[in-house]
Amino acid sequence: MTADAHSTLILLRHADVYAPAALGARDLLLGGGRVLWMGAPGSLSLPGALAAVTCSVDLAGRRLIPGLIDGHVHVTGGGGEAGFRTRVPPVPLSRFTSAGITSVVGLLGTDDVARGPAELLATIYALREEGLNAWGYTGGYHLPPATLTDGVQSDLAFIEALIGIGELAISDHRSSQPTLEELLRNASIAHVAGLMTGKAGIVHLHLGDGARGLELVRRALAGSELPPRVFHPTHVNRRRALFDEALDLARAGSTIDLTAFPVGPDDEGYTAAEGVRRYLASGAPPERLTVSSDAGGCLPCFDADGRVCHMDVGSAGALLETIRDLLHSGMPLAVALPPFTTNPARLLRLTGKGSVAVGFDADLVALDETGAAHTVIIKGEVHIADGQAVRRGTFES
Ligand SMILES: [Zn+2]
Repeated sequence: MTADAHSTLILLRHADVYAPAALGARDLLLGGGRVLWMGAPGSLSLPGALAAVTCSVDLAGRRLIPGLIDGHVHVTGGGGEAGFRTRVPPVPLSRFTSAGITSVVGLLGTDDVARGPAELLATIYALREEGLNAWGYTGGYHLPPATLTDGVQSDLAFIEALIGIGELAISDHRSSQPTLEELLRNASIAHVAGLMTGKAGIVHLHLGDGARGLELVRRALAGSELPPRVFHPTHVNRRRALFDEALDLARAGSTIDLTAFPVGPDDEGYTAAEGVRRYLASGAPPERLTVSSDAGGCLPCFDADGRVCHMDVGSAGALLETIRDLLHSGMPLAVALPPFTTNPARLLRLTGKGSVAVGFDADLVALDETGAAHTVIIKGEVHIADGQAVRRGTFES
């Protein structure tokens, strides 16, 4: 039987499981959106009634990994830095699923005026209706934060899908130039909301090219009782000196985020893959590193006057490309996976996500020989089969 997008039960046979730890050959029974059973190939015998409603998918020894968690996605489309025509359109469902991404955190960036939290939430809910796991951050680059209710506190306390504040910009000419007090005030709100609700409760910080780098975060940690986990700086691989600062911050207890943006030979940043290699080689705690795509976001380049000279758009496919790069350089898959799976699940407090395990959500990706997504399953539903999308977004042809 072939993969049916609406099967009650799915038996995945002959998977080579990376949980991320290498578990070897396994069969998995999926049902009710979760992994119900995992064991030696051929060892599960289902009673007739159950066997009749079970669809069997033979993965033929392909590597099976947890669905990727992309913690920084402009789901509404970002951009807008060089006129209204540069507003990027929303990212359709299959752009994520075909790239092995099963969970996203959506956010607003530079443009938190023409776009707002209502549009962000509507897009998150639309992606959920289409089968993706989706959450978001309240706010955007600027202060006061763009919120749906009368403040960040009530957004985080009462809107289930909003799990933190971000991407709040620092060390960037596009930021609100937040003061230490303003950063501390917002970080404390995120932290307390996290305690109240069990959500991530973090401030996801956009780092610009500014020479001040992470100085504001260091001052915030030195001058308050806030735990380092509350600060989650991203784009820290955009400059080498910033990356070195971020390593120190990770050693001090924060989780740092690398962006999988394209890096040219003359750029002063590291690719995400190079960042992961350097991070792990430095001996910094392996669990305090995440990688995100910035999909849908504009990747502009500015001149000295702050005018855009050229721009690109972040791609969801950049995460799998980064993993492929890591594997090519000899890194074992089990070592390469955590920044894309278990680490974001832990930081973002996404229960049941990030690992292949019994009782966890059935968010799974089978890789083909080239490292591309062959089969993608989200909450037990097949989205990609044989490398082709079997489910598409509402307006995708
Ligand atoms: Zn950003």
